[in-house]
Amino acid sequence: MDDKSHGTENARGYWTPKERVSYGPAFAWPPQPKALLKWFFAVPGYLLPWNVLYAIAAVAIWMFLTPPLEIFETFSFKWAGIILGRNIVLAIAVYGAWHMWLYGWRKQGTAFKYNRNWPSEKSTVFLFNNQTYDNMFWTLVSGVPIWTCYELLLLWAYANGFAPMINPAENPWVFAAVFFLVPFIHEVGFYFAHRTLHWPPLYRLAHSLHHRNVNPGPWSGLSMHPIEHVIYFSTILLFFVIPSHPIHMINLASRLGVAPAQGHTGFDRVVVDDKTTWNVSYYAHYLHHRYHEVNYADGMVPLDKWFGSFHDGSPEADEAMKARRRLRNG
Ligand SMILES: [Zn+2]
Ligand SMILES: [Zn+2]
Repeated sequence: MDDKSHGTENARGYWTPKERVSYGPAFAWPPQPKALLKWFFAVPGYLLPWNVLYAIAAVAIWMFLTPPLEIFETFSFKWAGIILGRNIVLAIAVYGAWHMWLYGWRKQGTAFKYNRNWPSEKSTVFLFNNQTYDNMFWTLVSGVPIWTCYELLLLWAYANGFAPMINPAENPWVFAAVFFLVPFIHEVGFYFAHRTLHWPPLYRLAHSLHHRNVNPGPWSGLSMHPIEHVIYFSTILLFFVIPSHPIHMINLASRLGVAPAQGHTGFDRVVVDDKTTWNVSYYAHYLHHRYHEVNYADGMVPLDKWFGSFHDGSPEADEAMKARRRLRNG
């Protein structure tokens, strides 16, 4: 399928979607109840497909892929190894699926790809001179183990009463409400962690590793320096103060673990057949990789708008970004 009706390509091979980056109406002022309802139930919308899918995955991971909580009262290498193995399999399944479809098998060529070039397979910037292998290395050797450490710490804390735990049978409404909160915790946590990582000394030390991926692919998502992994996954620690159930923690942890795959596909849509495409756009974060100084968050909470770093992909936003740069550089 042709992407001409959805966007425009410039002479340098950058394809820009016609649809501008926007936030849902969750924080619109004055409130728009009608638009809010529509956004909540639309597909794609707040619930479907991703938040429901992540919630179902969290319940399944807790029920079928996590041992009973008592096991975690004391630390055991055996169970730590099993949780690590389970997370490695999850990561390979999700990052691998996105990668193979769009980059390995190149099922839709460069249709709907923001940058018509393919990631570099001969660049000394990357380990093994190959962007994908480098990205897989940082994801699997540093990212997944650090994600697992946070998860084990919280499971230990729930098991020993150090983290406030909800019983779904006693508090079904609170249990349900925290599910709705997790996507917001994820996004706000990501924004502040990401802003911290752009503090110049931390950027040079850690976050610059992630930003080598100017033309990202799915595996670029969790390709970060270990210091960045420690900061990025630290949002999970909020469950030391927010009353929750381990399912909520697993929901946040697995989302932090695998959602960056979709956030870095570099594609706006997945072509299903001649007439159907799925919107998988994370253009906001693609622009962050291209310009470094815009869109530290993406999604529902207009943090970048509030803090003056929003870029919606339009030429006007480009001008505004350049004006901010001139002001900063005197
Ligand atoms: Zn990124
Ligand atoms: Zn960044």
